[in-house]
Amino acid sequence: MPTYKAPLDDIRFLLDDVLDVGQLATLPGYGDATPDVLGAVIEEAAKLCEEVLQPLNQSGDAEGCHYENGTVRTPRGFRDGYDAYRAGGWPAMVASPDYGGQGLPHIAGVVLDELLCSSNLSFSMYPLLAHGAVGALQRWGDKELNRRFLPRLVDGSWTGTMCLTEPHAGTDLGMIRTRAIPAGDGAYLVTGTKIFISAGEHDLTDNIIHLVLARLPDAPAGTKGISLFLVPKRLPTDDGVAGTPNGVTCGSIEHKMGIKANATCVMNFENARGWLVGEAHKGMRAMFTMMNGARLGVGMQGLGLAEVSYQNAVAYAKERLQGRAAHGPPVPNGDADPIIVHPDVRRMLMTMKAYNEGMRALAYWVGILIDVEERHVDQARREEATDLVALMTPVIKAFCTDVGFEVTNLALQCFGGHGYIREYGMEQFVRDARIAQIYEGTNGVQAMDLLGRKVPDGNGRMVRRFVAIVEGDLAAAAERPALRAMADQMRESLRSLVDVTGTVMARAAKDPDEIGAAAADYLRMFGLVATGWMWVRMAMVADAGTSTNPVAATKLATAQFYIAKVLPGMHALVRQIESGAIPVMALEAAAF
Ligand SMILES: Cc1cc2nc3c(=O)[nH]c(=O)nc-3n(C[C@H](O)[C@H](O)[C@H](O)COP(=O)(O)OP(=O)(O)OC[C@H]3O[C@@H](n4cnc5c(N)ncnc54)[C@H](O)[C@@H]3O)c2cc1C
Repeated sequence: MPTYKAPLDDIRFLLDDVLDVGQLATLPGYGDATPDVLGAVIEEAAKLCEEVLQPLNQSGDAEGCHYENGTVRTPRGFRDGYDAYRAGGWPAMVASPDYGGQGLPHIAGVVLDELLCSSNLSFSMYPLLAHGAVGALQRWGDKELNRRFLPRLVDGSWTGTMCLTEPHAGTDLGMIRTRAIPAGDGAYLVTGTKIFISAGEHDLTDNIIHLVLARLPDAPAGTKGISLFLVPKRLPTDDGVAGTPNGVTCGSIEHKMGIKANATCVMNFENARGWLVGEAHKGMRAMFTMMNGARLGVGMQGLGLAEVSYQNAVAYAKERLQGRAAHGPPVPNGDADPIIVHPDVRRMLMTMKAYNEGMRALAYWVGILIDVEERHVDQARREEATDLVALMTPVIKAFCTDVGFEVTNLALQCFGGHGYIREYGMEQFVRDARIAQIYEGTNGVQAMDLLGRKVPDGNGRMVRRFVAIVEGDLAAAAERPALRAMADQMRESLRSLVDVTGTVMARAAKDPDEIGAAAADYLRMFGLVATGWMWVRMAMVADAGTSTNPVAATKLATAQFYIAKVLPGMHALVRQIESGAIPVMALEAAAF
């Protein structure tokens, strides 16, 4: 059975020594969020995840969710797990105090997401969507709507969903058909079918608040005619209790490859009463608040599963005895040495370690930027943070989930045949990790968002800001003799990224297929370079010798591994990107 220990030292190393989380306590409203307070909160979260949620992960996968006549039962233990989650006040952690939240910085929520996803991805998705709904309502909901619904979402007594997908409208949401007609009293009647709705129906709470994309009668065609509605499963009474059923039913649940303990539902809305969130026809803008938060959350799913699979691979590699070390057996009297002595096993472990710690650094950096974007007193700092968060959101989503899937595979490989059978739990991590590359906008769509929208925006303004920050750190690293070679290699990589960006942009002006043909490779390259930058930052702290954290001693060697063995993968990507769209599009569709 897999085990999990929250990597608290690694988390503290990043927050305290590399990313200076202490800066947040100087922002308005965050005075109490000192590094010590955040550290104590994270330790408590770790206990819940290790002791309550992780033990339900494998049994939840084996049992799955149960559907009967419109009701969904979650696997054994999930209700108790959810009660413990609620009792600890976790749903309220980063929500606004105006609605009963604790008002802690968003970075605390990012760390919590990682721990939840490592311990039990299926479970984590019940509260993850509620958290996204809270964010969207805080930003776009009117006062009266928020007064009625937010406190119950914030204290976790109700959960939320995001209802976008329809059978014929997945990536292309402009085609959705769900309709909303005015009911005459300020509410709307929503009718339509949504599919693949995570946590659409379950038995953890007595009400579920659906955020639904639908069209008003006078809506223009395409995405410009979509509005967002709040549609509860049960209509709340005046005193805020879940009252009479609304016209919302669950038609069935999906049988799927992974996250089996999370209910993926077909949801039918039939004249269900709902309320407009934000302006009419501007629903995509409102939904993007939820989607961007969810995209970062899905990135943490990749990291969370990568971390737990790595931990189990390390434990197994230290125990499993096979073969002899090429450099002489460390256990001369035994029959064999632990497989961790073999360079190929080390290669796998180091690759996982270097990716995981680098991705975590990148994701936490963005988590802190979200707080800077929201709270900094200096407008220029807020604007810079807004640009960087926008630029990095598709990178975190797609890079961390692509790499997350690869890492779960590598971890399985370390177990040999034992990884492939169910008992050890490693194949569950691979199955669970796969969906994160697909939902919340496929990784192909994320890549198009990066290269087709974020990179050209403002004539490359977001990329220029990113490059300027990285160049500053590389110049500082080059001053340190132990890091000079690493800094030089990173400078060369950054230059390649800038050059190839210019090449694609120039080509795209002549051939619109150039963006789509290059996008996935470009996003991967961006992720590799950004993660390399994070490794330089971690190496600088380690080299300075100022950290008292025990993991600091491992960072230099891991940084060197990343720069030597992982980062060079970007050179192949440059060649692939430079070869352009013609090799991709040469065959006519009929030739396939
Ligand atoms: C387990 C699970 C949970 C989910 N949870 C939710 C949820 O809670 N709420 C919700 O609303 N939805 C949810 N979804 C739906 C999910 O977000 C969609 O499946 C996803 O966005 C892709 O849509 P699609 O499946 O229709 O694929 P399609 O849009 O048909 O895409 C098929 C392929 O074509 C590619 N493609 C499509 N259009 C383009 C384009 N313009 N350019 C380049 N490539 C393109 C895609 O990248 C993909 O590879 C969930 C799905 C699953 C499986």
